[in-house]
Amino acid sequence: MLFLLLATLLITGYFIRDSMDKWEAPEAAMPRRWKTLLASEVRFYSSLDIDKKHLFEYKVMEFLANCKITPIETKVHDLDRLLIAASAVIPIFAFPEWKYYNLDEVLLYSSSFNDNFETEGEDRRIFGMVGTGYMEGKMILSRGALRQGFQNESDRRNTAIHEFVHLIDKADGVIDGVPSLLFEKQYVLPWFDMVEKKIHEIETDRSDIRPYGATNRAEFFAVLCEYFFECPKLLERKHPQLYDYLEMIFHQRLSEREFKIVDAEIGRNDPCPCDSGKKFKRCCGDVV
Ligand SMILES: [Zn+2]
Ligand SMILES: [Zn+2]
Repeated sequence: MLFLLLATLLITGYFIRDSMDKWEAPEAAMPRRWKTLLASEVRFYSSLDIDKKHLFEYKVMEFLANCKITPIETKVHDLDRLLIAASAVIPIFAFPEWKYYNLDEVLLYSSSFNDNFETEGEDRRIFGMVGTGYMEGKMILSRGALRQGFQNESDRRNTAIHEFVHLIDKADGVIDGVPSLLFEKQYVLPWFDMVEKKIHEIETDRSDIRPYGATNRAEFFAVLCEYFFECPKLLERKHPQLYDYLEMIFHQRLSEREFKIVDAEIGRNDPCPCDSGKKFKRCCGDVV
């Protein structure tokens, strides 16, 4: 009897968990105006062929249908929503089945924050983070860093992609610099050796990888992914072995792609494609 009860509990538990893990399909296709914004602001999307663009749009709509975006002391524009979703989709683009079950809300702050999530005062060094403990399932991003990540094409920095890479890393339970779900076991030890060596190069000032990458393996992986998704050709030239690993992990041959805005860019004085009736520069395109 007890056994039966336990079994029932286990099975119900399984199904509850299973239904929690279900992401809903987006209700509508992406509105035209959002495609215009993506095409003008996200090089990764803009340089895709038409079929891949449709997939990207679907994944963006799916993300937005399942993850809440909450502005804290700031406004959230359509472009902010799109950039957050794009940052989620870019790293997993080769895995259309991927869903961020470990995320249900992104809190968008106006600027950088400190360890207590305060946006004023000193010591505000944090531009993004993945929540743990009571903040489990939440990501915090600064709007300035989010925008900057897509505006500057050569600084090898993209805060939002960095945070989503932590979530991908975390999908196996721990943020340790090894996204086990995407990583074949036999490569883990050689990967650790390589990371050790590369962190040492940073510490001894012989690397163009951002010093923050030397913090630990997990930060190294996230910092390296910013480099990979922003300047893949440069990464391949400077760190061919690291590049090969990332290509293998993410199944994306990025160094072969031309990243540029191939669709018409929106002029600063054009009407904003989000249909607010304002000029682009006073709406989604405002400088933060
Ligand atoms: Zn990090
Ligand atoms: Zn707008």
